[in-house]
Amino acid sequence: MTEIWKNINRKKLMKRLIIGVITLSIAFTQTPEYLNNKIDQMADRLENKVIDWRRDFHENPELSNREFRTAEKVEAHLRSLGMEVQTDVAHTGVVGLLKGGKPGKVVALRADMDGLPVKEKVDLPFASKAKGLYQGKEVDVMHACGHDNHIAGLMGAAEIIASMKEDLPGTVKFIFQPAEEGAPLGEKGGAPYMVEEGVMENPKVDAIFGLHAWPGLLGTAQYRSGPMMAAAERMRITVTGVQTHGAVPWGGVDPIVVSSQIVNALQTIVAREVDITKVPAIVTIGSIHGGVRNNIIPEEVVMEGTIRTFNEDVRLQIHASIRNKVEMIAAASGAEAKLEIFSGIAKVTYNEPSLTEQMLPSLRRVYGEENVKVRPFVTGAEDFPFFTDHAPGLYFFNGVAVDPSTASSNHSPYFAADERNLKFGMKSLAQLAVDYLYLNQ
Ligand SMILES: [Zn+2]
Ligand SMILES: [Zn+2]
Repeated sequence: MTEIWKNINRKKLMKRLIIGVITLSIAFTQTPEYLNNKIDQMADRLENKVIDWRRDFHENPELSNREFRTAEKVEAHLRSLGMEVQTDVAHTGVVGLLKGGKPGKVVALRADMDGLPVKEKVDLPFASKAKGLYQGKEVDVMHACGHDNHIAGLMGAAEIIASMKEDLPGTVKFIFQPAEEGAPLGEKGGAPYMVEEGVMENPKVDAIFGLHAWPGLLGTAQYRSGPMMAAAERMRITVTGVQTHGAVPWGGVDPIVVSSQIVNALQTIVAREVDITKVPAIVTIGSIHGGVRNNIIPEEVVMEGTIRTFNEDVRLQIHASIRNKVEMIAAASGAEAKLEIFSGIAKVTYNEPSLTEQMLPSLRRVYGEENVKVRPFVTGAEDFPFFTDHAPGLYFFNGVAVDPSTASSNHSPYFAADERNLKFGMKSLAQLAVDYLYLNQ
């Protein structure tokens, strides 16, 4: 009997000991409460400053790869926080490195900095009147995608994190990226160029976080574990026939009829070939040009379109199918067709599920339990996945609209972000970085 009791007690004791060790290790690996409080207090204190920065960036937007003024402001701020700063990364990119007082992982936070060739129609005292040069023409420039919020928010997060430098178990890399909207023709740019310039190395980044201003409800965040945003690719199809009189179609080969057949056939790829129970996909023809006159069958038709996918196998399947249909349909009609697919952002914005799971409590702490929501797939694209090729990442949307039902979309001349989003943006980035370092010591 005593022997049995002894065994039971020993088992109980072991169990308690194990639970104790686990509790202890959790207590040690979470961000200490005084730092959580500091994030809140600093965010309150910095809010007005961040709003001012954002107004300034909003009033002075710059086009992709031309973010000179913006980069100078960012650089000055990061230097004032005592960071190691690298400038002219991938043209106008700025990278700040903050080494914490204790050893640990390296976490990166990213903000994109470019505006768009859009004429602002929002009635704001700091509305943009800026001009820029786009494809050789002078254009109006606006922060129509909300990147002004990203820059100011990350500058705020940098100040919060710098204030707790000595407590940090690891390093934070602040990546201010140019040209997310795409570099001017003939230039390199954006996330792929930053990666090429070594931004994910020296020190090697272990995880990266980013957000986007989104006309969702202010004070909410939206994310999706796994694939979140699409890979986007541009295609051009050139169909060449034989020109003839419109009244004598048998005298030539009509590229307009061939193109019509191709457009219809392309619509059957998603409808009839892709397993849409796994992931959605899109094949769109957005422009079709051919002919000049009612009674001439032209020689050539040029079509352009976009392909959106959420999975590499489906992406390649769609490419093969488009090629097959374009070539076979043209051949069947005696025409010739050329298909060109320009890679664009041929990558899916993918949130690593285990990292997403680990970091959700950080987002919930900032936004509130019920305000962090899973969202459906987004068929828009982002160049963020060029970073996550080198380290797992989490990318999410920060709501900027008081009434999402009437809010204008990103890239609209009416796109407007409520300034209160900035506090959520800066806090969430700071919280994610600090929590990640503590959780992964
Ligand atoms: Zn955009
Ligand atoms: Zn954007």
